[in-house]
Amino acid sequence: MDTPTLASSYNDHRLFDRFAREAERWAALATRDQAADGAFFYAVRTTSVYCYPSCAARPALRENVVFFATRDEAVQAGFRPCKRCRPDLPSRAQREATLVAGACELIETASEAPSLSDLARAAGCSPHHFHRLFKRITGVTPKAYADAHRQSRVQAALTKGVSVTEALYDAGFNSSGRFYDATDAMLGMTPTAYRTGGAGEIIHHATGQSSLGCVLVAASARGICAILLGDEPDALIKDLAARFPRAEHRPGDAGFAQTVDNVIRLVDDPADNTAPVLPLDIRGTAFQRKVWNALRQIPPGRTLSYTELAGRIGAPRAARAVAAACAANSLAVAVPCHRVISANGDLAGYRWGLERKQRLLTREKS
Ligand SMILES: [Zn+2]
Repeated sequence: MDTPTLASSYNDHRLFDRFAREAERWAALATRDQAADGAFFYAVRTTSVYCYPSCAARPALRENVVFFATRDEAVQAGFRPCKRCRPDLPSRAQREATLVAGACELIETASEAPSLSDLARAAGCSPHHFHRLFKRITGVTPKAYADAHRQSRVQAALTKGVSVTEALYDAGFNSSGRFYDATDAMLGMTPTAYRTGGAGEIIHHATGQSSLGCVLVAASARGICAILLGDEPDALIKDLAARFPRAEHRPGDAGFAQTVDNVIRLVDDPADNTAPVLPLDIRGTAFQRKVWNALRQIPPGRTLSYTELAGRIGAPRAARAVAAACAANSLAVAVPCHRVISANGDLAGYRWGLERKQRLLTREKS
């Protein structure tokens, strides 16, 4: 799996920085702060035992307490793990995060969304407890997570006019939560509003012939919103209608022919930097736009792997989500998803046919 685990969020440097000073460590002991578990350990000289900061044991006298950054240091100094808080095992927070990450993986890999009781059984707890735990850690219910994941995969949100964002907000998604980044990478979306289906909009389109076959160009009032490649115009017009199901579609007028010519020039020679810069109307989730912007930074003649691209947007473990964002690109060549290939050099996929991808890459390399 290329998705980030929730557990990894706990090994956050900020967490360790927060408890770097002794005063903060004492404060964490006083409040039995679970957030401090893993950031440091404390040991009591009189009992020769070391503990997690949140241990429920009776507080020791300050003069008898020693702090350690890691459990290994405590063990090397001769301390035994406390039988109560078990600092030799992952902390409760880590165990919970691992459980939830496992559940997320189950949801993501299942062909049909697992039921709450299935998920709870796999996690080894009651449905009620699992539901509360999942929601506390991810900010959304298991059902909302499964819905959002499915929607992001098939882009149902774009065709049904139901915003995933709304669903996440309704489910209590908290954009300032510490799982924001992980959720972003896993869901392929963030709670940033995006428009669905082009409701109430007028989109003009026209088709033309390029060296890669038929090209459909569509534009909103803001710019070019689709460049689709194919063998014949009718299929491309259907594809356009499916991508913007709620828009009003009209054929482009005579003036639109110039726009189409400019796009064909770009398709025929993506490396031609004298070609006019086309205003693009790029739509998608925040995550998709991040990926597409990164694609536009890849110069002609160069390629990246999905993993490298994921690294460039700061989500190195989100290669699968990155590949999904590439596949969802509506702006062929202008957003050069053809410049992403498998790490082993295979072409991987291309929405508009591998042969076109191969021809584009060969042309750009020459
Ligand atoms: Zn303890």
